[in-house]
Amino acid sequence: MGIDWERLQARRAANVRSSVTFKFGEPIEAPGTISFAGGAPPADCLPLARMAEATARAWQTSDPSVMYYGEYQGHEPLRELIAERMGRRGTHISPDEVLITNGSQQGLELIAKLFLEPGDRVIVEAPTYFGALQIFEVYESEFVPVPVDAGGIVVEALEAALQSKPTPKFMYLIPTFQNPTGIALDPTRRQQVIELARRYGVPIVEDDPYGELWFRGGDHGTLRQLGPEVIYLGTFSKTMAPALRMGWMVAPSSLMTRFTFAKEGVDIQSDRIVQRAVVYACEGGWLDEHIAEARIEYRDRCDFMLECLEREMPRGTNWTEPDGGFFIWVTLPSGANADELVKECAQQGVSYNPGSCFYTDWEPKPTLRLGFSTLSREEMREGLKRMGAVFRQHLG
Ligand code: PMP
Repeated sequence: MGIDWERLQARRAANVRSSVTFKFGEPIEAPGTISFAGGAPPADCLPLARMAEATARAWQTSDPSVMYYGEYQGHEPLRELIAERMGRRGTHISPDEVLITNGSQQGLELIAKLFLEPGDRVIVEAPTYFGALQIFEVYESEFVPVPVDAGGIVVEALEAALQSKPTPKFMYLIPTFQNPTGIALDPTRRQQVIELARRYGVPIVEDDPYGELWFRGGDHGTLRQLGPEVIYLGTFSKTMAPALRMGWMVAPSSLMTRFTFAKEGVDIQSDRIVQRAVVYACEGGWLDEHIAEARIEYRDRCDFMLECLEREMPRGTNWTEPDGGFFIWVTLPSGANADELVKECAQQGVSYNPGSCFYTDWEPKPTLRLGFSTLSREEMREGLKRMGAVFRQHLG
C-alpha cells in the first residue's frame, strides 16, 4: 500500500502557498525577462567586500564556544547596536527588548505562532505584503482588510474594523514606505492609530523594513516610538543584504521570554557568526554611510522610473510618488485586469507583480507593483517601453 500523502497532511497544509507565483500556472519570468518584481538592494549596493572582511574577522576572533548552541535571544552587542540605532531614530528601547530573528519574516511567523488560533481575525492593510498573508493564512486566520489611501491606512475604516466582531487579534501594519504602495502613514494618523489600538485593546504589529530608506522628506520614525506596546519588526535585508537573514523584533518585556522560546522551537538560534559579522561591519559608522549612499541611488532610480511612467503609461493611469522604500504602485484605468496583462507582458519580455497578489481576496485588480531598486536605467527604460506598449494596446 502506498502512502497517501495528500490525505495525511494537516488541514493547514492546504493554505501553504508560494508567495506570488502560485497564481500563475506558467512561469511569468522566462530568462531575459526584465522583471519589476524585485524588492531588494541592487547588486552594486550589496556590501560584499565589507561583509567578506567582517565575516573573516568573526571566524578569526571567535572562541570555540561560539560554535555551540547559545545566545538564544541574540548576540548582545548586536542587540545593543540595534537599540542604539533605533534610539538615534527616536525609538528608545533597551537591548533586552530585542530578539534577533532570521529576517523580519521569522518575526511574523513567531507572532502568528504565539497569537493566532484558527478563525482569529487579523486586520491588514489593503493592499499589504503578501509574505505576511502567506504566514497568517497557514494559521487559519481570517482577514479584515482596511483600505489605504495617499496618507496611509484610512483611520475611519480602521476604527470600523476594530469595532467589528469578533474583535480582531492584532493589526498588521507597514506604516512607512509600505510594500506594495510606497506610501507613508501621515503624522496625524500615526497618533490616531496608536490611540485606536489603546482604546480597543488590539495590538499593532509594525513591520518596518523600509523606514531607514527615506530619500526625500526625512525620517518618519516608527509607531513603536509612540507606543511601547507596539510589536516592532526590523531587518538588515534592505539596508545590507537579504541573504544575511538578519532581522529583529522589539517586543514588550513580558513577551520576550515566550518569543525567545518560540524561536528556539523553530531554529534554536540565529547564526552566531553572521551576527558578529554584522556588528563588525557596522563599526565606525559604516552602515550610516552605506545607507546615505544608497538613498541617493534609490532616489535617482525612483525619479527615473517616474519619468518613464509619465512617458509610457496610457492616459488615465495613476501612480504613487514615494519618498522612500523600493516600490511604486500603479493604478491602470478602471476595468483593467493586471493578472491578464502580466501574461501579455511576459510574452514581450517584461513582468511585474499584479495588484491581486497583495489583497486577501486574490481577485484581479487594475493595479500593479513596480520595484525601482534593482533595475538599471536601461532596463527600466526598455522594460517600461514594452509594458506601456502592451497596456496601450489593450486599454485603448
Ligand atoms: N515585511 C515586508 C513588508 C517586506 O517587504 C519584506 C521583504 N520583502 C519582509 C517583511 C521580509 O523581509 P526579511 O528579509 O527581513 O525576512
